[in-house]
Amino acid sequence: MITGKKITLYDGDENYVISPVTGTITSILPYSGNFGQKGTSICIDTSTNEEIDKHFEEYKNASSIQSADDFLQCIPGMPPLKLLLQSTIQAKTVVICGADLDLLSTTRQYAVTSMIDSIIKGISVLTKISGGSKIVLALPETMSMPGKFPNVKTISISSKHPAALPHMITKQHFNTIIPEDKTCEEMGFFFFSAESVAAIGDAYTNGQIPLSKIVTVVNKNGNKEMISAKIGTPIGEIFKGLKIFANEKDKIIINGPMTGYCAYTLEQPIMPDTDSIIIQDRDKVISSSDYACTNCGKCIRICPANVPVNLLVRFLEANELEEAADQYDLHSCIECGLCSYVCISKIPIFQYIKIAKFELALMDSENAMEEENND
Ligand code: SF4
Ligand code: SF4
Repeated sequence: MITGKKITLYDGDENYVISPVTGTITSILPYSGNFGQKGTSICIDTSTNEEIDKHFEEYKNASSIQSADDFLQCIPGMPPLKLLLQSTIQAKTVVICGADLDLLSTTRQYAVTSMIDSIIKGISVLTKISGGSKIVLALPETMSMPGKFPNVKTISISSKHPAALPHMITKQHFNTIIPEDKTCEEMGFFFFSAESVAAIGDAYTNGQIPLSKIVTVVNKNGNKEMISAKIGTPIGEIFKGLKIFANEKDKIIINGPMTGYCAYTLEQPIMPDTDSIIIQDRDKVISSSDYACTNCGKCIRICPANVPVNLLVRFLEANELEEAADQYDLHSCIECGLCSYVCISKIPIFQYIKIAKFELALMDSENAMEEENND
């Protein structure tokens, strides 16, 4: 295997990853991800002699949505290129988000301030390949960059969570509430992280697929370091480099305390969308509980999507998922994590919601497949 080469599970598979290193594949195993997701893990024993795959080079300075979708789906920031390619919507808005999605991460802000030329190049590529979409740059309200991104409209995002989430941005800045049965993309809004736009710009300028991810690492004292690591690097290697010692029962959170998920092994790799890694000392970890809901109402008052969370949680706990969706607005949830954060009974509501949505989507696709087979 060589650096930059596409890896697919079988010939003609449209899903792929890009090898971030040169070496020998030592294992291909089923992988259980977070919130019920399933995938495949591929281990590569790296070689010291790096070889680079040249297939993307022919697209240097010749950008197109097809080549972007064919080669750049897994670049840092994981741009939604497939959705853009498949979209039949004419009037599109591409929002380049320089505001971080969750607390403690500064990855996107770092990208905006340190990758200006790459982002400008990426914006011109995106303008071309998205068929002349309106491009808008979303910056945190604390960041002022007048004149740095000429000809691009800028919007200012509140630093209060969850203002940087796509549903909140469409509501606050485009006067559009995304209906519960639609996605942002189905309503014409495509969200790209600032880092992914910089990576698109670099890819077409250099003719090489970018494979290094910027990550905010927060250590046990709450101190932050910005690092750049190859996609696929185990987080244990990153801790080693930063002299962070992980003990048993320390908590490792990927992508933020509100909407992130826990890593249970130091072999967990940096993914194209890993923006932050937080490690909490085992003595400071606040665990979720199996206490019952006391109907305090805090979750309802804080929910930005007006979900009747106290009722929803009862159906999720009873695994009555269809009722949760039909009667208690499961699909209106915009996944901000605030309900879990404020819950005085420490019920992992956000995790229940994510798993329920995943299981319902799985049931839908199984039913659709069964119907197809019966036809
Ligand atoms: S995560 Fe909780 S608070 Fe946030 S939108 Fe969903 S139900 Fe509401
Ligand atoms: S915050 Fe927790 S305890 Fe309070 S109503 Fe909501 S689910 Fe129940």
